[in-house]
Amino acid sequence: MKIYNTLSKRKEEFVPVEPGKVKMYVCGPTVYNFIHIGNARPMIVFDTVRRYFEYKGYEVNYVSNFTDVDDKIIKKAIEEGVDADTISKRYIAECKKDMEGMNIKPATKNPLATEEICGMLEMIGTLIEKGYAYPAADGTVYFRVRKFKDYGKLSHKNLDDLQSGFREIKVTGEEGKEDPNDFVLWKPKKEGEPFWESPWCEGRPGWHIECSVMAKRYLGDEIDIHAGGEDLIFPHHENEIAQSEAANGVTFAKYWMHNAFLNIDNKKMSKSLGNFFTVREISEKYDLQVLRFFMLSAHYRSPLNFSAELMEASRNGLERILTGVEKLKDLEKKAEGTVLTVQEEENKKKAEDLVAKYEAAMEDDFNTADAISAIFELVKLSNSTASENSTAAYVKWMKAEIERLCDVMGIITEKKEEILDSEIEDMIAQRQAARKAKNFALADEIRGKLLEQGIILEDTREGVKWKRA
Ligand code: AMP
Ligand code: ZN
Repeated sequence: MKIYNTLSKRKEEFVPVEPGKVKMYVCGPTVYNFIHIGNARPMIVFDTVRRYFEYKGYEVNYVSNFTDVDDKIIKKAIEEGVDADTISKRYIAECKKDMEGMNIKPATKNPLATEEICGMLEMIGTLIEKGYAYPAADGTVYFRVRKFKDYGKLSHKNLDDLQSGFREIKVTGEEGKEDPNDFVLWKPKKEGEPFWESPWCEGRPGWHIECSVMAKRYLGDEIDIHAGGEDLIFPHHENEIAQSEAANGVTFAKYWMHNAFLNIDNKKMSKSLGNFFTVREISEKYDLQVLRFFMLSAHYRSPLNFSAELMEASRNGLERILTGVEKLKDLEKKAEGTVLTVQEEENKKKAEDLVAKYEAAMEDDFNTADAISAIFELVKLSNSTASENSTAAYVKWMKAEIERLCDVMGIITEKKEEILDSEIEDMIAQRQAARKAKNFALADEIRGKLLEQGIILEDTREGVKWKRA
């Protein structure tokens, strides 16, 4: 299995630290709002990577954190007049709902930064002891970047080039730094912020230290895969490597995987441009399975553009697969025969070639785009070869194969009948007409039908409003 490693900038054969096991750490979101569809990309991509390892028989230990102490969380808490914990707990719960909608397997562990402070104090202590970190007069603890010889190995940056990027050696509030490249491990509390006791000052951890500590605690000093979006390569992951390798004395992660960004209408997603969607907003228009399928329609290292057209294409593509499986389910009910015919044996061989094609795509740095093409070809073969004359053995085999491949993609092959906005509006108009004609039985029947499809109506003074349950 080949994986592109950001560290070596090339595809490498996957060799696990421990045979048969994969230890994976994926940087999770900062929880101060609903997650956006950009955050969903690494979640979907690396869940699919995990699923493929499991398909190959590996036991995967998948750890992904929630950053629950951060400036943005504190700002939001102040705005709402609640404590930071209320904000982070709320959005962790909402994030988990979205993840369920996208059929992302629960992680083996979702550690929270605020519950791992002890480990952070310990690692910072070790780094100071070994000379890799130092406390400044105000109690801020910095990592001494120049002491770590391999600094820059992941982002392929040179320290001297980085240094020339700094115009002023001392930035306000960072006067205690020995070198402008040094980064914060621990910082003093500010008024109204959450804080913890420490040997250096009452304060809170820097962002990078949390991942080094959680990876160590739940996966060990040496892990197989560390992953996240490409914006994390520098400084976050570069700093994680420096902290972990300086403290533990061994290579931190063997393979570093990074997904490219998701853009909207070919522009960077940003609140100011107004081209910003949360997963929750998308779930009001589409089944989140469609979002998942859309994300996997491109290779994870290629930038991906979100647009209504591409989502429609994904909806249609997914529909083709689900219809193919439905057909097999119908045939399965009536079919008989446990021995494949000669023709079916031949078709099975063709199907096996497509399964091999699928696996080859996935084993070439998780090329989900090509893997999905192989699923399409398999469905096409199934549609043209499975019929009422097929044996039960053939139909069952074909269905199981398609479902097995779909499962790795996280596609649920159970078809959900999705009702469109326009159909809902039509039914509401019919209900209004029935009410006007005093046919309340019909009006209630229409309301009931909509409810069965998960559509809730609300009669308000401004008219009928509806929402999806
Ligand atoms: P954050 O909450 O900003 O730390 O982001 C959580 C994860 O989402 C990180 O792995 C980011 O790299 C990733 N991410 C954020 N925005 C995007 C985007 N537009 N496209 C792809 N990944 C993103
Ligand atoms: Zn991280």
